[in-house]
Amino acid sequence: MGEYIPVAPINDQARKHNQNLPGMGGVFNLVNMHVYHYAGNNPVKLIDPDGRELGKAGIERIVAEIDKRLNQIWEQSINPRRFLFFKMDPNTAWEYAGNINKNSKEGYKIGQVRTDRSEVYVNPPTPRGNTVADFHTHPVAANKGGFTGVPFSAEDIYGMWYYGLDLSIVEAGTVRFAVEITDRRKFNNFVRYIVSEYNRIMSNYEHLGPVKSRIEALRELSHNPNSGFTVYQSVDKNKLVFEKL
Ligand SMILES: [Zn+2]
Repeated sequence: MGEYIPVAPINDQARKHNQNLPGMGGVFNLVNMHVYHYAGNNPVKLIDPDGRELGKAGIERIVAEIDKRLNQIWEQSINPRRFLFFKMDPNTAWEYAGNINKNSKEGYKIGQVRTDRSEVYVNPPTPRGNTVADFHTHPVAANKGGFTGVPFSAEDIYGMWYYGLDLSIVEAGTVRFAVEITDRRKFNNFVRYIVSEYNRIMSNYEHLGPVKSRIEALRELSHNPNSGFTVYQSVDKNKLVFEKL
């Protein structure tokens, strides 16, 4: 059973362990889908000070306020030539990650954003006090197909447990995904099975391809009454209207 449980990506050995988990290979074995992107040393309790869920309306409100910045970040993640001082392989996609903060005067803001090559996990800071969520991009390098819409990986959700996040947003080009932890007690128990369950369900949908099979796995997991989390996906062109997956 131990082999099925991912460990936090605190070092290369841990990342290697995660990459070697059963079922983690396949045509879409991109490192940026299985590493953890969160490595803040100050996990913050996020959105839920009085025990209420954000839900669709709350997630849409947060996304609406940071929409422009998310779009910019997505563009940057797939266009490395923007970095004038680096000569880089155009097939290299860069991953961005950061925090979404709430400031009572300015509304929601994206906090410090960092980027790194996708083979290195991103390490956003986690400022105390007003962090409500985090986000990262799922860019895909041109030589890996370059398609967009890659949903949360099982490891992304596992990372939400590890770092105590209640809301995480993935910016994936044509769509956005959001995972909200709606029942922390259930989630804490379920999370140990998430990688094996995700892979088991995904293998049932292999014929749908690497993106859709992951979406189906997320859908089934989030509909499991024991999972303790809900997945939302944007359903409009502007990526501002969300529905439950
Ligand atoms: Zn991810």
